[in-house]
Amino acid sequence: MKGLIKRLSEAHGVPGSEDEIRSIMREELEGCCEIEEDVMGNLIAKKEGDGKTVMLAAHMDEIGLMVRHIDENGFIRFITLGGFFDQTLLNQRVVVHTRKGRLPGVIGSKPPHLMEEKEREKVIKTKDMFIDVGAENGESASKMGLSVGDYITFDVPFRELKGGLFTGKAFDNRLGCAVMMEVMKKVDTPHRVYAVGTAQEEVGLKGARTSAYRIEPDVALALDVAPAGDFPGTKPEEASIKLNKGPVITVVDGKGRGIITHPRVREGLVKAAKRLKTPYQLEVGEGGTTDATAIQLTRGGVLSGVVSVPTRYIHTPVEVASLSDVKNAVKLVLSYIEGL
Ligand SMILES: [Zn+2]
Repeated sequence: MKGLIKRLSEAHGVPGSEDEIRSIMREELEGCCEIEEDVMGNLIAKKEGDGKTVMLAAHMDEIGLMVRHIDENGFIRFITLGGFFDQTLLNQRVVVHTRKGRLPGVIGSKPPHLMEEKEREKVIKTKDMFIDVGAENGESASKMGLSVGDYITFDVPFRELKGGLFTGKAFDNRLGCAVMMEVMKKVDTPHRVYAVGTAQEEVGLKGARTSAYRIEPDVALALDVAPAGDFPGTKPEEASIKLNKGPVITVVDGKGRGIITHPRVREGLVKAAKRLKTPYQLEVGEGGTTDATAIQLTRGGVLSGVVSVPTRYIHTPVEVASLSDVKNAVKLVLSYIEGL
């Protein structure tokens, strides 16, 4: 499991360019499932059955950047794909995915030595940032294969921390992908189970929308990550989710503008956790949402819910999560499906 998470975290796939994740999923699930890909870039794995149609969805894409402009000095200006806090981008190592291969680069900035006192207090905006790949000028950048529209991802290796925790990039949502794959390998049920690696979640839940329409599930679960708040500077009344306290069952996200989980699904998940005697946490979220929001609104409406792995520092290149939560999420989803 840890090896799979490392592999998924270190793979690159921003919205619209999920190929690497798709091939890992295909490789992992080919033995147990029928597999198709669709025009949106979703990977759809199916285990046939004659009961209900269950859909699992885990988005494959990670937040990233895209080249918007290359200037005459060879520096890159970019846009963000997905939600960033500008400050987390500064001075990161990145990889630019060009037609000629990968180029390492850094998001540069003025050193403090060159800053006026006032400048040091200012937050630098994304639009004022640039990437340095070492190109001498615009012409040499283009010779390297650099072009407007190239994708850019963080260059961050997976690392284990103490206490069963680990850190890396793209845990949102490669942890959900890992949970989904593990469930598919193990699930034993008369129901028909689809696992969809969805495309372009971070930019509008797009792959979930089209795949749910096609699959017409009776019940659906999005598998994702939930923001943990167990670190300095966050009050428990503002963010009560913690690592090592089990998977998160969403009650509401986006203050109800995301999903309001159907009580049948929510209660079913809670019962499944109680049956297993595994820990779980309930989430009433204010910001952010998941694929379940799009799935729920498909056709005449779909019974939908969310199971998430609690994760610290979501949407940064140093996300932190716990293996025990990942394993308990797998157990919870399996028990829920098998109990349907
Ligand atoms: Zn996500």
